[in-house]
Amino acid sequence: AFDVLVIGGGPAGASAAIYAARKGIRTGVAAERFGGQVLDTMAIENFISVPETEGPKLARALEEHVRQYEVDIMNLQRAVKLVPAAAKGGLHEVRFESGASLKARTVILATGARYRALGVPGEQEYRAKGVAYCPHCDGPLFKGKRVAVIGGGNSGVEAAIDLAGIVAHVTLLTHGEALRADAVLQRKLHSLPNITVLLNAQIAEVLGDGQKVNGLVYKDRLGGEAHRIELEGVFVQIGLLPNSEWLKGSVELTERGEIITDAHGATTVPGVFAAGDATTVPYKQIVIAVGEGAKASLGAFDHLIRSSAP
Ligand code: FAD
Repeated sequence: AFDVLVIGGGPAGASAAIYAARKGIRTGVAAERFGGQVLDTMAIENFISVPETEGPKLARALEEHVRQYEVDIMNLQRAVKLVPAAAKGGLHEVRFESGASLKARTVILATGARYRALGVPGEQEYRAKGVAYCPHCDGPLFKGKRVAVIGGGNSGVEAAIDLAGIVAHVTLLTHGEALRADAVLQRKLHSLPNITVLLNAQIAEVLGDGQKVNGLVYKDRLGGEAHRIELEGVFVQIGLLPNSEWLKGSVELTERGEIITDAHGATTVPGVFAAGDATTVPYKQIVIAVGEGAKASLGAFDHLIRSSAP
């Protein structure tokens, strides 16, 4: 059995694995796709001390760093069930789609999240060519340009406010008949001169010239007519879904599916820790996931030394 078994090979999982292995304890990492969301990212300019890199390059660097230690890396393994230890100090079990199962004294859940996509023509084609999901990451790439933000909840309205300080103009579109964001955010939104809000707007298509985005088509849900907006960027803010469906019934999750963790990265099950985008920790970023992974790993190590027999 492992002392620490990490599920997920993104920034949080890689960091957790390195911190565990450096304690000289038996460490394993099982991931569906080593690298995680970083693999889907092009320019990364906010991973502190690395002024500029690309997603696939950072993903390779994460894996290389993990491979410098004695860590069992099990790639292409999708976890489907966590069976917590029956008794205190017992072994937790993780079952995989392949039929395999692994046992460990502590488990670190780092399965990340995925952005909800619009599912309209042009969205996939122009991903990272004008279609973006993270304003903190990609906002500065649209300096002085025109963008749309899709989504009328807190994240959409926050993104519009954030981007309005960088870009020339923001059109915020929601398919709802009203914004759902907190009143204080809506007040701030309406105070900004370079934001237009469109309600009842159903996104129909992202347009481009083959290289990059140059427009957006939406349908007015009341009148039924289609409209076209000329712009250079589209930020999709219709939800971040934690990859935690497989954990239902084992650790406690919020309504939105985030794994509830405390300040030490501990979940509601003793010996099971969590880190990164899959958890309740706010602000989903690489630098945060890396820090949280280290923290969960130190939490797991602390748990091990306190629960092992003298
Ligand atoms: P993830 O990176 O999501 O990794 C999760 C890991 O768990 C993966 O290995 C996955 O395969 C695995 N996994 C999931 N489910 C299972 C399962 N059931 N069984 C086994 N393994 C599983 N952040 C920045 O700081 N700067 C940026 O510039 C930036 N740009 C971004 C651009 C895009 C397009 C996207 C999508 C995100 C961007 N982010 C950026 C956010 C950043 O990528 C995430 O915050 C970060 O990757 C979270 O790390 P994580 O380890 O928690 O999860």
